[in-house]
Formats: sequence, C-alpha cells, structure tokens
Amino acid sequence: MKIAFIGLGNMGGGMAANLVKAGHEVRAFDLSDEALEAAEENGCTTFGSARDAAEHADAVVTMLPNGAIVRDVYTTDIIGQAPEGAILLDCSTIDVATARDVIALAEEDGYEMVDAPVSGGIAAANAGTLTFMVGGTQSAFERARPILEAMGKAVIHAGQAGNGQAAKICNNMLLGIHMIGTCEAFRMAEKLGLDPQTFYDISSVSSGQNWSMTSYCPVPGVGPQSPSDNDYQGGFATALMLKDLRLAMEAAESADAAVPMGQRAAALYEDFNGAGNGGLDFSAIIKTL
Ligand code: NAD
Repeated sequence: MKIAFIGLGNMGGGMAANLVKAGHEVRAFDLSDEALEAAEENGCTTFGSARDAAEHADAVVTMLPNGAIVRDVYTTDIIGQAPEGAILLDCSTIDVATARDVIALAEEDGYEMVDAPVSGGIAAANAGTLTFMVGGTQSAFERARPILEAMGKAVIHAGQAGNGQAAKICNNMLLGIHMIGTCEAFRMAEKLGLDPQTFYDISSVSSGQNWSMTSYCPVPGVGPQSPSDNDYQGGFATALMLKDLRLAMEAAESADAAVPMGQRAAALYEDFNGAGNGGLDFSAIIKTL
C-alpha cells in the first residue's frame, strides 16, 4: 500500500519506519530536514510538501504537534489533494472538537477518516507496540485497522469520530491524578516513619494499587525500573502530560463535566512545568512534595 506519512518527529519517525518494515511504500514529509533524512535512512521516500506526499497515496497518516497544525495540514494539503477514496488517519493528540471538525470536512469531500491517538511513548512507537484508540465509522475503522496494526499491539474502536481523542484525554487525566496521589501517599508514608519499599509491598497488593505505583513508581529503587531510577530522564515528559491535561480541561468545560481532581492535577502540573521541569518525566512531580 502507498501510505503518506506527515510528521516524522519523536513518535512519527518510528511509526513510519514500522510501516516500511510491514512492506508498505511510505511517502514521507516533515518540515524538518533532519527528520526527513532519518526517514530516508529508514526506507521512506521523502517529498517536498505534504501535498506531494499525499498525492497518489492510498492512505494518509499524520502525527503532528497540535490541533491547529492538524487542521491546517488537512485543509491545505490533504483534503481534496489525496486521491479520492484514500483513507485518512490522524494519530496526533489534539482536542476533541478539532478532531470532529476535520473529520466532518474530510467526509464532506468524500473521504473516510479516523482519529487514532496513541498510548505509549517513543519506545513503543519505535518497537511497534503502541495502543491506538480510534474514533470514526465502523467502515473507516475497518480500513484503518490493518495500517494501525503494523504500528501497534492494540487497536480499539472507541465509537464515533473524536471518541479516540476523548478516550485518550480521559485516560491521561486519570493518569495525572493517580500519579500525584501516588506521590503524596509515598511521601506521607515516609514522614510517618514507613520505609518506601515496605509501603510499596503493602499498597501494591492492597486497594491503593495503581499503574503509577506498580509500573512507574515515582520513588527511585522501588518497583520495576522506571524514569525515577534514571533521575526522571526519559519517559513521558511533564510538558506532554500538561498538554493532555489542558486538552482534558477544555473538553470538560465544553461537555459541562465536573472534574475537580482533574483541575487540581492540571494546576499542579502547570506550576511544575512553569518552574522549568517540562523535560522531566511526569513522575518527577514528587520532588515538589
Ligand atoms: P515532535 O515534536 O517530536 O514531532 C512532531 C513533528 O511534526 C516534528 O518533526 C515537526 O517538524 C513536524 N511538523 C510540525 N508541523 C508540521 C507541518 N505543518 N507539516 C509537516 N510536519 C510538521 O512530537 P512527538 O513527540 O512526535 O508527538 C507527536 C504527537 O504525538 C503529538 O500530538 C503528541 O502529543 C503525541 N504523543 C506523543 C507522545 C510522546 O511520548 N512523545 C506520546 C503519545 C502521544
């Protein structure tokens, strides 16, 4: 299959390489020359614009920084430019409203399109083990599925257009909340005289157990290997957690959903990011307690 891939950054670079490995002809474009060079080394054919890459493609995949860029790239270079009948897949994390708007515009022009944001970071993008949460019609989902399966370990249909983004931000809002809760519990346990490993041994098999504790423990030396063991380098950057929490707060407001804990988590990550910690893994927020 000829697949145009737009946005070959930290995530998109590895995803495009996995499409090549699966036997697809990948037509790549990015604004960065460095990203284009790396894509070429990985077996992609590079183009001078998103429009040129999308021309003659059976499918277009985008992995871009935000909703404004996604809207711009689709309305300028993809919708009306990609061949009739091409399937369009946006894997970026963006706001639900923009995802729904862009899909509606694509459908007006006769394309099928899904929003398919991912869970899993750069390592999962490189390894082809991402989880995709997909919004769109059943027919669009069925067409997108084999393409996504070449880049991930799980592909889940979340319902109508935009529901992939909705699932992503609700999940990440919960992640931000339980990370902060986990940090608080470990710090308080310590102040009360409990050894962190002992608290872990108890809580990880009790009702406080959660992913931030057992897969990503914010306390160095406790639980499986995680960014805290590497001075909070690598992992899921605080700036990206904040991006998702901002999207979640925007969506909560538009849906009139009460999210008092989500709001508090967003405010705490705003402060932590504002203090120059955007590049640290999000579990580093334990340092503020
Ligand atoms: P990135 O900044 O590394 O990559 C984005 C790429 O898009 C860059 O190479 C940039 O040059 C390119 N780009 C920007 N505007 C463009 C345009 N108009 N045309 C073509 N290319 C353009 O970001 P990333 O970490 O790869 O993240 C991409 C998306 O994936 C974001 O929406 C992010 O929220 C989401 N995401 C990231 C992670 C992660 O761990 N990095 C995890 C899950 C989801």
